[in-house]
Amino acid sequence: WTNYFEDARIAARAARDYVGGFSRPTLRLGVTGLSRAGKTVFITALVDALLHGGALPVFEAMASGRIARAVLEPQPDDAVPRFDVERHMSTLTGVDRRWPESTTRISELRIALTYQPKRGFGTNERTLVIDIVDYPGEWLLDLPLLTRSYLDWSREAVRLSREPVRAPIAADWHAHLQTLDPDAPAAETEAVKAATLFRRYLTACRQERFSLSLLPPGRFLMPGDLENSPALTFAPLDLPEFPGEAVPGSMRAMMERRYEAYRSAVVRPFFRDHFARLDRQIVLVDVLSALNAGPEAVCDLENAIATILEAFRTGRRNLLSSLVRPRIDRVLFAATKADHLHHASHDRLEAFLRRLADRAIRRVSYTGATIDVAAVAAVRATREARVRNSGFDYEAIVGTPLAGERAGGDVFDGKVEVAMFPGELPADPDLLFSGGPVFRGLTAADPSEADYRFLRFRPPIVPRGAPLPHIRLDRTLQFLFGDRLG
Ligand code: GDP
Repeated sequence: WTNYFEDARIAARAARDYVGGFSRPTLRLGVTGLSRAGKTVFITALVDALLHGGALPVFEAMASGRIARAVLEPQPDDAVPRFDVERHMSTLTGVDRRWPESTTRISELRIALTYQPKRGFGTNERTLVIDIVDYPGEWLLDLPLLTRSYLDWSREAVRLSREPVRAPIAADWHAHLQTLDPDAPAAETEAVKAATLFRRYLTACRQERFSLSLLPPGRFLMPGDLENSPALTFAPLDLPEFPGEAVPGSMRAMMERRYEAYRSAVVRPFFRDHFARLDRQIVLVDVLSALNAGPEAVCDLENAIATILEAFRTGRRNLLSSLVRPRIDRVLFAATKADHLHHASHDRLEAFLRRLADRAIRRVSYTGATIDVAAVAAVRATREARVRNSGFDYEAIVGTPLAGERAGGDVFDGKVEVAMFPGELPADPDLLFSGGPVFRGLTAADPSEADYRFLRFRPPIVPRGAPLPHIRLDRTLQFLFGDRLG
């Protein structure tokens, strides 16, 4: 019954969106990605480019001058905070030139584009309203939990945590797990301890040197307004293959109940109120960090992409809502921060992401929304230069490393510009899966320091009124809503 009821609510909501769309066509664009993937920077750059007519040659409607106006409007969902684009923009371009604060919860922004249709006459203008919905990718990775029981999830989480790359990170949690008897009477202090250690393990997996991606439940990492909530005091248990029914009043019964509460009070409302209403989705992926961390992180990223594809299927399988209106029909996976590479490698980064997505698509036999990939830098913090060193010319990138960044024994002060030779991606994307010629240390400096990370740069200096520099943002916009401006 819950499901029918849910379906009906989703359908009612979709119907309201649909009726609203008659007066003004509206497109709901989801922007997601794991923490630090680049969501805040991406949305800020996207909105700025639309409002101020950035340099967007591949975004046809803008390049051909058909967009007459772009204005921000009050966003329609009163219960959702507004994406604070003005603050983020002034942080990016102010005298300090800092990166804005990252996404930690859902937010929305509405922008209305008034445009001249391709085959319109005179002043026959139209408007497309775009609702941008920014939400943590960790929450998206939760959606498949809707079809997994506590038993399935618990078993999978324990199995994953025993893989060679994760086992050392999970050692403390594993030690505690061994002391827990699932059939023993439920004990709150033990549950809290298990949840705390499990969350600590998940958080450690996200550290730069591991850069692992597949870490549900998402609210353990990105709690949003559930910070310190009892809804998050559960954890997997080490259960036998066929454990039978849970003993009433046992640890396992309590964990099962809390897992169910998490699904119904957290995951399902997110699906119903936000995800099921999206029309298009961009998933930002920090591919370079995964590559830097090594083949295990790349493999984990592929698993995460497969899980995300499953979520898109969940979205489409909902019969009632798809009767009223077909939802997400285009998904773009975008590798962010491409400005850390020389342009010769941008196509290679894209090819690698395409290979990752193709493998994931095959694995989960995905059919559904059209999928594309892109390598982008929403804000390009570097420029390219040819540098002569020991009689040879090298292609370098030039930027101002953030204060405190290190390379080759130097600590940067956030003021000097440096030229560096970025790592080069191999032409054959398959080499990046095998861990063969591993792509490590974009700093190309002292390997012991450079091994796990690349230099982070300050945002670029942008003359007043000039558009923010970017890489392939225009292609992204063309794919995400170019067709709706025909
Ligand atoms: P979020 O957690 O997904 O919202 O991530 P943010 O948008 O806050 O980005 C996290 C960090 O990634 C920023 O603080 C920047 O250091 C870096 N970053 C994001 N986008 C870009 C980009 O286009 N170019 C460069 N060089 N760095 C970026």
